[in-house]
Amino acid sequence: MKLKLSDEVQFVKGVGPKWAERLSKLEIKTVRDLLYYFPREYEDRSQISQIKYTAVGEQANFKVEVLKIDYQKIRSNLDLLRVTFSDGSDVVNGIWYNQSYLRDQFNVGDKYIISGKLSEKNWRKYKRKEINNPVYEKLGSDASVLNTGRIVPVYSLTEGITLRRLRRVVANALKSYASLLKDQLPESIRKKRNFPGLKTSILGMHFPENEKHQKSSRRRLAFEEFFYLQLYALEEKKKYNDLSGIQHQFKEKESQDFLEDLGFELTDAQKQVYSEIRKDMESKKTMSRLLQGDVGSGKTVVAALALLQTVANGFQGIFMAPTEILAEQHFLNFKELLNDFDYEIHLLTGSVKASERRQIEAEIEKGKTDLIIGTHALFQESLNYNNPGLIVIDEQHRFGVEQRHSLKQKGDSPDLLIMTATPIPRSMAMLIYGDLDLSVIDEMPPGRKKIATFWRRENRRKQIYAFLKEKIETGRQAYIVCPLIEKSEEMPELISAEELYNDLQSGILRDYKLALIHSSIPADEKKEIMEKFRDGEIDVLVATTVIEVGVDVSNASIMIIENAERFGLAQLHQLRGRVGRGRHQSYCILISNPPGEDASHRLEIMCKSNNGFLIAEEDLKMRGPGEFFGTKQHGIDDLKVASLIDDQKLLVEARDEAQNIVKDENWQQKYKNLAKIISKIELKI
Ligand code: ADP
Ligand code: MG
Repeated sequence: MKLKLSDEVQFVKGVGPKWAERLSKLEIKTVRDLLYYFPREYEDRSQISQIKYTAVGEQANFKVEVLKIDYQKIRSNLDLLRVTFSDGSDVVNGIWYNQSYLRDQFNVGDKYIISGKLSEKNWRKYKRKEINNPVYEKLGSDASVLNTGRIVPVYSLTEGITLRRLRRVVANALKSYASLLKDQLPESIRKKRNFPGLKTSILGMHFPENEKHQKSSRRRLAFEEFFYLQLYALEEKKKYNDLSGIQHQFKEKESQDFLEDLGFELTDAQKQVYSEIRKDMESKKTMSRLLQGDVGSGKTVVAALALLQTVANGFQGIFMAPTEILAEQHFLNFKELLNDFDYEIHLLTGSVKASERRQIEAEIEKGKTDLIIGTHALFQESLNYNNPGLIVIDEQHRFGVEQRHSLKQKGDSPDLLIMTATPIPRSMAMLIYGDLDLSVIDEMPPGRKKIATFWRRENRRKQIYAFLKEKIETGRQAYIVCPLIEKSEEMPELISAEELYNDLQSGILRDYKLALIHSSIPADEKKEIMEKFRDGEIDVLVATTVIEVGVDVSNASIMIIENAERFGLAQLHQLRGRVGRGRHQSYCILISNPPGEDASHRLEIMCKSNNGFLIAEEDLKMRGPGEFFGTKQHGIDDLKVASLIDDQKLLVEARDEAQNIVKDENWQQKYKNLAKIISKIELKI
């Protein structure tokens, strides 16, 4: 029978149906799965020592011969197997308790490599060298040495799978199947980057000859993983950009009027990203760009400038916010920003009444509306835009490829700008948003003060509220964020917004105006509350994380977060970003009793840093990429070897090489195998 890598794993020598069943728990179903089941770590047992010169307490490997085998029954439930080994320099006893079945394994004269920690026992007036439970491996003609005398792979296991046998099974699979591994990486890249071939690399992952072999193997395989994903992303990008999109004309007058009215000068970073956006909009290719900037860095103004361009060109501008509160806020904001222009601006969210909605939709379809602000409701199928020119998606870093493609259907390939305040290290953004162009606002508007952040225990409430009152007296406003809406029986330790609101309003803050806001409050009520807060009629907003993204009230300068240990770093940073948006010194107070180690670490980072990129990187390190980006996304789950944290440089290299390949219009013909690989990459977003 012809062997194939897709053969069921049970046909590998030493596996069989029972073990195959167990292996399937490790997601190993085929021979290929087994070959790509890489060790979690390695143990270096490659140095062979001499017994005589090895210090007691040291972990060592010896190449020995069996001198004597001694088996004793000490008590009814205790037996001892002592095998005396010699390596010519000295002797050592291997000691096993209650493993009588090992008796028949050893024969006088057999040669072994044994590994373990050398100990010493007094015996009469002599000292005797011993190793308890040594790892042993017979040297002989038949099999290669897998467990000793080399760098030894250590795999993650599951019930019924032993390390020893798994090593043997992997070695068997390599022996019969490794020659079937087909190297798909173009030879030119392999040569240039000095990568080993695929077979050598797979071998080097399991049974490396030395450290260098392991490292170069890992490097090559990690590169390969990045490379295919980048190739895929770049091809997607080409598809999007290839379309002959809308070519905007630059409207200088409108642009100037807008900037003059703004009341501040754009930062250099804002100017830079706007010029990048302009260039895309004025070119024939369809813009597909990600605008990244920390909370408060001024993305919205840039978006407004771009939208102004599109409406001044006679197209419709579309702006989608993630929540109704934000859509509402942006709506007011845009009306204000575009006050001096004569454009028709409409708000469209899920809570707009049916009759009103039909009217708005009709006006959109007829092209009477210039700018449409809204939530997901903007992308319902029944809504037909009239010549959309630019779509802006706010605070939506998870806006997937598929969704993006579906947007194109909404018009004649309108330009697309996605904005996110989630700071993602550039190289990572490259992996995840490889098909987008990237613009970064890496500078805050001038005059911003660092938000002073403190972590306080619950027993400091009195001082915290005294401080809060003092600030309210000077005219400032505050947010208090709780992890829950209402009290939960299951989590009595968590403070709920309802509870806290009632306590404070009838107690210590009774002289001030408080309001409660959370997701189960009806939309029009929420809207009213936000308006009042914006107008300064409410002093303290007790809320849940509904206020997490984008809420912008520059007079609010205090953020108090209850049960701060319940929130992740990114979320804490987002919440804190609701203050520090004006000229007032702002404060963030994290209330939390001593939480676990991870939570403490998060709170400490928050107190130390205001820098979103640094916080994001810490977040990524703590949570790992899967959780950081949300699971089942972006092919991150497919990374078996590469690490987003440690291999950033490799990722850039992979990107470069992928770019080189797709530059050629006919690359899919030249590299049929690569084309096939990327055609199999699934969209997970
Ligand atoms: P983001 O959307 O990036 O979180 P915004 O666009 O909402 O940030 O801007 C935050 C605040 O900073 C807004 O009140 C905005 O008017 C103001 N702002 C934006 N750019 C500048 C600038 N260049 N100089 C001064 N203030 C600015
Ligand atoms: Mg914003």
